[in-house]
Amino acid sequence: MKVLVINCGSSSLKYQLLDMKDQSVLAQGLVERIGLCGSQLTHRQGKLEKVAFQDMSSHAEAISLTLDMLMNSEFGVVSNLQEISAVGHRVVHGGEKFSSSVLIDEAVIKTINKYIELAPLHTPKIVTGIATCRKLLPGIPQVAVFDTAFHQTMPPKAFLYGLPYELYEKYKIRKYGFHGSSHKYVSMKAAEMLGKPLAETKLITCHLGNGSSVAAVKGGKSVETSMGFTPLEGLLMGTRSGNLDPAVVTFIMEKENLNPEEVNDFLNQKSGVLGISGVSSDFRDIEDAASKGNTRAQLALDMFAYVVKHYIGAYATVLNGADAIVFTAGLGENSVSMRKEIMRDLDYLGAEIDPLKNNVRGKEREISRDGASCRVFVIPTNEELMIAQETAEVVCHCSRPLKGRNVYAS
Ligand code: AMP
Repeated sequence: MKVLVINCGSSSLKYQLLDMKDQSVLAQGLVERIGLCGSQLTHRQGKLEKVAFQDMSSHAEAISLTLDMLMNSEFGVVSNLQEISAVGHRVVHGGEKFSSSVLIDEAVIKTINKYIELAPLHTPKIVTGIATCRKLLPGIPQVAVFDTAFHQTMPPKAFLYGLPYELYEKYKIRKYGFHGSSHKYVSMKAAEMLGKPLAETKLITCHLGNGSSVAAVKGGKSVETSMGFTPLEGLLMGTRSGNLDPAVVTFIMEKENLNPEEVNDFLNQKSGVLGISGVSSDFRDIEDAASKGNTRAQLALDMFAYVVKHYIGAYATVLNGADAIVFTAGLGENSVSMRKEIMRDLDYLGAEIDPLKNNVRGKEREISRDGASCRVFVIPTNEELMIAQETAEVVCHCSRPLKGRNVYAS
């Protein structure tokens, strides 16, 4: 069974075609600058790489070019589109309606559209992606995999804000949480590494990248996470402020003469470690500047490590201890010094890292010292594989009673 994973960003599109027999990636690619001048598609198939420069005014054109690439006689991996058994779409916001992945039909699209307000940059592009795939791949099942779904197991005491309850009823203002596929994937991997059934594990998963979030996962279910109504809440991030006193928002609006859209942009694009360091939103640049004596860059790194530590402490309390702490995503997988700083003085939790084992980048590895009661893992995330697996499961589940066959094995 071949599954195509489509991940539409605000001006980009990532894709992967996976063979679910052995979970291998047959081809993958990235379309950048969609709707802007100078758009391009970079396609990889094994060691081959093809870059196509072509103006693409919409995600519909990007998907059309993606499908052409997958069928290209030189770089392609399928001879006709009917070889693709299913398409899995990453959908950023599923609101309260979706607590698991679903087969897409008209009703699902209508509901996704209802949540446009909650993710206005991404949702219209995702809906275009879905519509285009349904048109160009008629009869091929399409599945929506939601970033928010994994966190729908949070209890009300964790997901509600201290606002009048009517606002939750009227507007569904609550914490949703994001990076669900990543937290779910690394939780499953961590259970394997612990040699325990997932249902018996207590995990703190740290997805630390350009966008960052921490989750408390009990028995494979999210019970708390740092991102909220939008991906702005929680840790300070590359360009996002993370938590602050809500009164600061109106204060900035008044003092800097900003309207709601401008202050939103300020908190999402100009804050975080970029705003503190004044150097970059990229942690490699900040680490580099700090090593050369830039004190604001060092302050940004210290603040980031401190806030992650803060959440680890809080979630250890929520979980009444943890079997493991997991580091994943660009920074979590690769920054030896950031992991060291976050893990400093967490011995009260039974979590200590071994400096030699911690000297690893982008590889699955246990980094805790021998005998630690709370183990520490580096686990490279694989959101595309998680989306492909969920897509295959949904398609199998939906087709079994109808056709009496296992699509997953075909
Ligand atoms: P992601 O959003 O998961 O792609 O992660 C991107 C972030 O990971 C960027 O801020 C990068 O600077 C950071 N990152 C990637 N590799 C490294 C590395 N070797 N050392 C430090 N940070 C890294």
